[in-house]
Amino acid sequence: MPLSPEQEAEITEQRSAPQQTLRAVSEGMESHLYTAYPVLDHGFIRVVDYMGDDAAICQAARVSYGKGTKSVQNDEGLIRYLMRHWHSTPFEMCEIKLHVKLPVFVARQWIRHRTANVNEYSARYSILDREFYIPAPEHLAAQSVVNNQGRGEALEGEEADRVLRYLRDDAMRCYDHYEEMISQEGQQGLARELARMNLPANIYTQWYWKVDLHNLLHFLRLRADSHAQYEIRVYAEEICKVVADWVPFAYRAFEDYRMGGATLSSTALDCVRRMLKGETVTQENSGMSKGEWREFEGLLG
Ligand SMILES: Cc1cc2nc3c(=O)[nH]c(=O)nc-3n(C[C@H](O)[C@H](O)[C@H](O)COP(=O)(O)OP(=O)(O)OC[C@H]3O[C@@H](n4cnc5c(N)ncnc54)[C@H](O)[C@@H]3O)c2cc1C
Repeated sequence: MPLSPEQEAEITEQRSAPQQTLRAVSEGMESHLYTAYPVLDHGFIRVVDYMGDDAAICQAARVSYGKGTKSVQNDEGLIRYLMRHWHSTPFEMCEIKLHVKLPVFVARQWIRHRTANVNEYSARYSILDREFYIPAPEHLAAQSVVNNQGRGEALEGEEADRVLRYLRDDAMRCYDHYEEMISQEGQQGLARELARMNLPANIYTQWYWKVDLHNLLHFLRLRADSHAQYEIRVYAEEICKVVADWVPFAYRAFEDYRMGGATLSSTALDCVRRMLKGETVTQENSGMSKGEWREFEGLLG
């Protein structure tokens, strides 16, 4: 259970006090505001605040005095044009602020996305909770034999049991020692900023993460992708659901051009043109390396 009853009560109270505003409001996003959506075994994402909507993207693109809306079709068409031509700054006019609870090893991947503002829970000041990510059995996978940076089939039988036992026992033992080291009962008590170094990377941390829509879509493009590690991908996928309701036109364009689309090199494009003319194009006469050709074939299905 990611949230305590007290935290749930705080969120309910916040959600029960709506205020009038002249600012742009996205109805889809209002339904998500403050709600914590569970991710992994103890994590969550929740929207704390946001700015802008689809109309704000169009307003900025047209540098308009008013709402900037000509018609719904025009707005969606404009947003698709902007996305198609990598005209990114209008998307930067929308912002989102998320509260995220995530394992430290996921946070290490997430923090590589530098174009965001972050404030993390202080484990120098506060005591970390006894909460560790333990993969569900189906996600306890073996090392992939084809991809050094990936996983294969789920572990089975005695090996799966033993690995799960190690993960649980080691985490608990480290946390017991953490508590013992910081305790001031009958001893000085080690500083929290030092005691934390003995905790494993599957312990949960929390942060506020604020990012504009352009950079958020870049994050989602990389982390909601099948190549991303499962444990960060599930966070990205949860955020995708929120973004789809927040800025539906922008999200649809993103799905179409970025998530579902692909960039072709001029060599690959030339191969497509030759194929359309009826020529038999193979890796050998394509001008592409084996790896490029494999990916190209994958794209063409
Ligand atoms: C599947 C996958 C595997 C990965 N594997 C590894 C790995 O093995 N090792 C590893 O170290 N990382 C790895 N990464 C992390 C990856 O290399 C990037 O650091 C991460 O995805 C953040 O991307 P970004 O820099 O584009 O994002 P952001 O930091 O949000 O930056 C967005 C864009 O802003 C620009 N920008 C931001 N800061 C600067 C700057 N200082 N100078 C110039 N331009 C800037 C760039 O154009 C950048 O693309 C992996 C990522 C993925 C998705």
